[in-house]
Amino acid sequence: MNTKHLPHKTVERLSQYRRTLYLILSKDKTHVFSHEIAQMLHITPVQVRRDIMLIGYSGNLRKGYDIKELIDLIGKIIDTEKGQNVAVIGLGNLGKAIISYFKGKRTKLKIIAAFDINPDKINRVYDGVQCYPASRIHEIIKNEDITIGIITVPAEQAVATAETLVLSGIKGILNYSPKPLNVSPNVFLEEYDMITSLEKVAFYAKKNDERFK
Ligand code: NAD
Repeated sequence: MNTKHLPHKTVERLSQYRRTLYLILSKDKTHVFSHEIAQMLHITPVQVRRDIMLIGYSGNLRKGYDIKELIDLIGKIIDTEKGQNVAVIGLGNLGKAIISYFKGKRTKLKIIAAFDINPDKINRVYDGVQCYPASRIHEIIKNEDITIGIITVPAEQAVATAETLVLSGIKGILNYSPKPLNVSPNVFLEEYDMITSLEKVAFYAKKNDERFK
């Protein structure tokens, strides 16, 4: 099955479905219906069925989806067989928070290196992750087979950091800096900005407020 062209939103939801399925599995259930997944994620059962159909899986009309089978299939789509190694560039407040949050959460995605320019942070281990000098990004990324880079450096350092990552052969970048990046089309770039999310919430909160005036 060719899953390369799955919509980005479907890929995001598949990750959420898998986490939800693990939760349901821990309650000793073997099968689940689309409406149960939908209810837990506050989306529609039609959306769940559509996404799961897109990955070529269908449930049993009477019993629903086989949870283990679906978890395995989502794993085959999202993960690679041997997993992927991840590096965090910029071991400040956010970089450290990401490393702690991620610790032990996914076996197929491992944060195995951090990079910084601050001598106080270099050559130390944070939550099990070794911090290297930024000057060694190219070497470590190649030697440790790191395919994903998380950028948590100050905005003015983001472009140069992304360039170094791309030249080192990175395949995907998650950019947390507020500087929008432009990378070659063979590198997948995702940018996340908390302020955008908060302003979106503020916009809808304001609309609610006005409606009740
Ligand atoms: P911080 O100052 O605590 O950490 C930045 C770290 O990057 C420092 O340890 C610094 O030594 C290191 N650094 C600087 N230049 C570097 C380089 N060239 N290579 C490697 N390391 C380098 O800042 P923070 O609060 O952790 O924020 C980090 C970035 O994330 C900033 O760009 C900030 O604006 C952004 N941020 C984004 C969000 C979001 O929602 N996307 C939230 C918070 C912060």
